[in-house]
Amino acid sequence: MSDIHSHNPFEAMQARLRAAAHIYGLDDTLFQVFMAPTRSMIVSLPVCMDDGRWEVFTGYRVQHNIARGPAKGGIRYDLNVNLDEIKALAAWMTWKCAVVDVPFGGGKGGIICDPKKLSKPELERLTRRYVAEIMDVIGPDRDVPAPDMGTDSQTMAWVLDTYSMHVRHTENAVVTGKPVGLGGSLGRNEATGRGVLIVAREAMQRLGKPLAGARVAVQGFGNVGSQSARLLHEAGARIVAVSDLNGAIKNDRGLDIHALVKHVTETKSVTGFKGGEAMDRAELLTLAVDILVPAAMENQITEDNAAQIRAKIVVEGANGPTTPEADPILLENGILVVPDILANAGGVTVSYFEWVQNRLGFYWREREVNERLVEYMTHAFHSVFAATDKYKTNPRLGAYILALDRVSQAMHYRGFYA
Ligand code: NAD
Repeated sequence: MSDIHSHNPFEAMQARLRAAAHIYGLDDTLFQVFMAPTRSMIVSLPVCMDDGRWEVFTGYRVQHNIARGPAKGGIRYDLNVNLDEIKALAAWMTWKCAVVDVPFGGGKGGIICDPKKLSKPELERLTRRYVAEIMDVIGPDRDVPAPDMGTDSQTMAWVLDTYSMHVRHTENAVVTGKPVGLGGSLGRNEATGRGVLIVAREAMQRLGKPLAGARVAVQGFGNVGSQSARLLHEAGARIVAVSDLNGAIKNDRGLDIHALVKHVTETKSVTGFKGGEAMDRAELLTLAVDILVPAAMENQITEDNAAQIRAKIVVEGANGPTTPEADPILLENGILVVPDILANAGGVTVSYFEWVQNRLGFYWREREVNERLVEYMTHAFHSVFAATDKYKTNPRLGAYILALDRVSQAMHYRGFYA
């Protein structure tokens, strides 16, 4: 597999945008506007480590487009974070929010760090300093962060607290994906995985096959991967392989996902699980399965391995797992790709529900959250495939076109303030 750093995710976003804009016939000024984020912020974060040393971290917050509402997007803690990655993720959020038709624009943030190597107090100090630095650009009506790789509901609780201390009142709508006891929404933790389940079922239906009994491989076993695997397993699919950074395991008869989740909680990795045998991590992507769910990170399906992918359907749980060079190879091989900006939009959809509940001060039952999620995701799925058919293109560009149509309409109504 090629080195992930040889692919620039922002250029990958721009390549899809260029292709979709051409098919859609997008106005050239709007195209230029969408090719760059509206605002990029780089912050320097001095943090006192537990041993008394000071370390200076670099953080980012990018807002790609806010025509349809406040920017919305996660905060990533990872050593590979860089400005182009955050710019790509912010743009994907613009398109994703438009695809599921929630009234947000696109944003994203991140800090270059290895969260596994930091103690909880160090993580807390780093998060609070970051929030203090980006204070002026975030807020319930400006930009609403959420978790992403390396961050979780605890991180969001620190974001909420730091922001609230500065504005002198508790403002829980400043962030989503927070603990339920702090105004988080029921169902948010599993929402991205639940969205993957919903679109996987719709995609199987398009192939005239039931989800029950389908063979599934899942790359990555963090929030998105583990919840997708669990929910697909509970829906009757057979999860035959999963992986994480440490390795991969398989079981042709299907892995016991509940036992595996317990194993991962105890050992922090899927490796060593008694109910499966070890396999090569890269080989997982090329297994002959019905559904492949890449749920780890960008640039996993590239021109180097795309021809070996034997899944019938790829449901992109991660953001940007497929490079633009790999797209035509998958298409040519008749593989149905449910693109990231649709497939993993369950998370931002329930984030929207969380923000709505915070602002109403009225909280929904889990059943209501899940039912509304099914409604939004199913509608989005069919809208993407309607655009795909209308413009005689593939589902990825169909999703971009649907998003471009909605965001450019908002921009037209507003006009340019000069
Ligand atoms: P996470 O940090 O919880 O989990 C990431 C997982 O991927 C871990 O198990 C890690 O070990 C594994 N991994 C990393 N590199 C790998 C590799 N090369 N091979 C196999 N496994 C690897 O992160 P997450 O929140 O689950 O996010 C995963 C992806 O989904 C990211 O692209 C993220 O942007 C996207 N996403 C997340 C959400 C959300 O709600 N958390 C929503 C939409 C999209």
